[in-house]
Amino acid sequence: MRKNEKTLTPKLIKKLWLAFVLIIVLMGASYIVITAYLANKYNEETTQRINANVATHVINEKFQNESPFLEDGSVNKALFGDLMHDMMAVNRSIEVYLLDNSGTILYSVVLDHSKNTPSKSVDTAPIDYFIKTKGQKYVLGDDPRNTEEQNIFSVAPFTIQGREGFIYIILAGKDFQAVSDNLFGQYFMKLGFGATLLTMFFAALIALLSIWFLTKNLLLITKTVRSFREGDLDARIENPDESDIAIFANSFNEMADTIVDNMDKMKSVDLLRRELIANVSHDLRTPLAILKGFVETLQMKNETLSEQDKKEYLQITHDNIDKLSKLINQLFEYSKLEAEQVTPIKEPFSITELSHDLIAKFRVLADKKNISLQLNNPEDNCLVFADVSLVERALQNLIENALKYTEDNGTVTLSLLKKGKNIEINISDTGTGIPVSELPYIFDRYKQVDKSTKKQGYGLGLAIVKKIMDLHDTTITVLSKPKEGSSFIFNLPAYQVS
Ligand code: ADP
Repeated sequence: MRKNEKTLTPKLIKKLWLAFVLIIVLMGASYIVITAYLANKYNEETTQRINANVATHVINEKFQNESPFLEDGSVNKALFGDLMHDMMAVNRSIEVYLLDNSGTILYSVVLDHSKNTPSKSVDTAPIDYFIKTKGQKYVLGDDPRNTEEQNIFSVAPFTIQGREGFIYIILAGKDFQAVSDNLFGQYFMKLGFGATLLTMFFAALIALLSIWFLTKNLLLITKTVRSFREGDLDARIENPDESDIAIFANSFNEMADTIVDNMDKMKSVDLLRRELIANVSHDLRTPLAILKGFVETLQMKNETLSEQDKKEYLQITHDNIDKLSKLINQLFEYSKLEAEQVTPIKEPFSITELSHDLIAKFRVLADKKNISLQLNNPEDNCLVFADVSLVERALQNLIENALKYTEDNGTVTLSLLKKGKNIEINISDTGTGIPVSELPYIFDRYKQVDKSTKKQGYGLGLAIVKKIMDLHDTTITVLSKPKEGSSFIFNLPAYQVS
């Protein structure tokens, strides 16, 4: 592992931090706003509850001996002057109003007269609510000196000399509000700032911890990925399910398995290709060398050779040319099949007829070895749905092999049997058979059971048959016993004439 390895890029870390700081600032701001709002409400409600009875006290204290109205019906200003005195000593921030029944302001006692009273009356709905709940429920009422905002108040009704009205007291007047706002501002700035700092500290701790956890896991994965890249194909993340990022760890392991698998496949393909080229060159060289030798002899000794020898030499030359062209044809056919350039054109055809034709074609060859070549077809006419020329090629190779590997006076039988929705095709011989150990490999190209004897083939025939079976989505089975014979069996879908 290289030193100072960075799992997360500086750019990503920068982005993470930026997002982090932004979120914290937002959190801090929301915290301040919510706390300020709630604390303000809390403060107002407490003040209102504590001072709920102030208005009742004023009435009890001041109006016991003296009426708030003079005999001519005007307001008893002297009485309220007295009240002002008391207020000056105790609480300068409250504002006392004398209201009539409908909420019209008859008189006001306000210490700070710098601002006049813009409103002439107050809404009586909050007053009724206050009286009904005995001041124990938070309610805001009109503030005659500040029409824009409502305020906490205390109120009490009175009935004196047949006149009804209210003493209405604004508890946190303009002055109180200004001082309170200012203090609140400072206090909450401090609180908000402190809370933000504290949150930031803990959040940073969480962020560092999560980055540490992530990095720890990523480092482990990166280490394995690097070993793999550097050639250690066995490198895998140990116990992926226990990793904190199990999906990632598992995906890497699966990917590595697939890569190694594909590499193995490619290696084996490459090996086979090299083997094929080596074998092909060998197979081409031998008949060519023979051809060259005989042609040269014919050229040089043309005068001295007997007619009989000349005929024989020409026959050998002809046979070798035949062999060569057969090999080249097979190679061409096989490479086309392997490159998947052949698409089967499936159609219904009579496999019975095709078999008759093939038997007739190979009759001469069979007769030469005195082999009995038979067709066993209990049904009249078997129809299959397949590519006729490919099936013909496969049957040709199989019959050719059967004749090739069967000693003189043997038997080769081609059977066609209806089995459910399929036609079973069986090519059996009484030939040499195939050793059990070789059975799994005979369909591999260039596989020949006995390389030393080098029969007449090149090991391509069965490989071609196998490819043709693949193209028909079917398989071919071989049953064989050495010295007794072999059977090659495959199925093709029967064609139902409706
Ligand atoms: P070749 O051209 O050598 O016959 P094939 O691919 O057709 O190549 O066959 C591969 C090998 O399988 C043969 O070399 C032979 O050893 C064995 N083989 C195929 N068919 C038969 C058979 N009917 N009887 C015995 N051996 C067979």
